[in-house]
Amino acid sequence: MTSYLLRDARPLGGDPVDLLLRDGVIVEIGPDLDADGAVVVDAEGLVALPGLVDLHTHLREPGREDAETVLTGTQSAARGGFTCVHAMANTSPVADTAGVVEQVWRLGREGGFCDVQPVGAVTVGLKGERLAELGAMADSAAGVRVFSDDGICVSDAVLMRRALEYVKAFDGVVAQHAQEPRLTEGAQMNEGALSGELGLVGWPAVAEEAIIARDVLLAEHVGSRLHVCHLSTRGSVEIVRWAKSRGIDVTAEVTPHHLLLTDDLVRSYDPIYKVNPPLRTADDVAAVREGLADGTIDIVATDHAPHPMEDKECEWSAAAFGMIGLETALSIVQESMVDTGALSWEQVAEVLSARPARIGRVREHGRPLAVGEPANVVLYDPAATRTVVPGDTASLSRNTPYAGRELPGRVVATFLRGVPTVLSGELTEGVHA
Ligand SMILES: [Zn+2]
Repeated sequence: MTSYLLRDARPLGGDPVDLLLRDGVIVEIGPDLDADGAVVVDAEGLVALPGLVDLHTHLREPGREDAETVLTGTQSAARGGFTCVHAMANTSPVADTAGVVEQVWRLGREGGFCDVQPVGAVTVGLKGERLAELGAMADSAAGVRVFSDDGICVSDAVLMRRALEYVKAFDGVVAQHAQEPRLTEGAQMNEGALSGELGLVGWPAVAEEAIIARDVLLAEHVGSRLHVCHLSTRGSVEIVRWAKSRGIDVTAEVTPHHLLLTDDLVRSYDPIYKVNPPLRTADDVAAVREGLADGTIDIVATDHAPHPMEDKECEWSAAAFGMIGLETALSIVQESMVDTGALSWEQVAEVLSARPARIGRVREHGRPLAVGEPANVVLYDPAATRTVVPGDTASLSRNTPYAGRELPGRVVATFLRGVPTVLSGELTEGVHA
């Protein structure tokens, strides 16, 4: 097996040092290491982070292979610096049985670009009527620990309570898409003065906040673990902050787009900005940034949501919700959090790697950059800049909201178990054991 010497990398943005990767692990860290037959990668000026872990990715396979496949989605993930992604359950068929989650898990392994940790559905067919086979999915080869009906809220309080109780048996977590359905019927954008002005049905903050408030109380009542998907409002941050102060076992995520973009973009009526939950106000953006900086929000998760052109290039009301985001996530976090002084690179490693791995109970990812640890590493050039070109992606879809925008940073290399999936900014052949 080829070994790699990362010369003069800056682990977590610190002082330059060499890292030697061999047989899937980091075998040596120190100054001026002997190459000893290893391939030398010039990492001068590059920040080294543990391979990124996404808790919220839509890979669309099985069922919508025109939008994304496990292979293309994991290639896109590798280009974004990820070594592990959690694949959401809203596929067709739905990932609500051991058979489907094992298929998705295996496709990830066979692809060799990024480990895929399937998320299991909470309810059969995402219908919100009865619990799916949570135990069978947990016991399967995929070892599912995260359960979510994402895209749809588990709005029935009794079902949500049962799910929270059930997953305790195997240390699982319910990841809730917090959206009160009755308050958001036909909703198209954030509810506010602007939705009235534009004549689009509003998606009020209270529809998110009411479910989060209910769920943290349920989690406290049954003593279980709750994860809040893509939190997007100031009120949601305040509720999670309150819940944590009470000792409730809740974690929360924010997406890169909710850290950067606001509902003002909807003025264009360009459905590229249509997403669920919707882009919110500048005040909400400030609140989620503060929440991420002070640890109220635990992680950044992409909610990478690929859609074919015909589902996005149509009138606003008919367009699908969602944006792709794996290849821009780290740059958006740099722009919104690092370059603004809100987070250090060490903290970026926490919110984009260590904590999502911990929430998902993934043991081989999100580990420190230390001798003896798995060689899952990303090399990132924070001084680079690039203009986003929608076609320049490994994803099958092009629905990025950042087209034409100049972003900081570039992923130079990604290593999965010591083998590059991306090198010199280009995809390799992947990892094939
Ligand atoms: Zn969602």
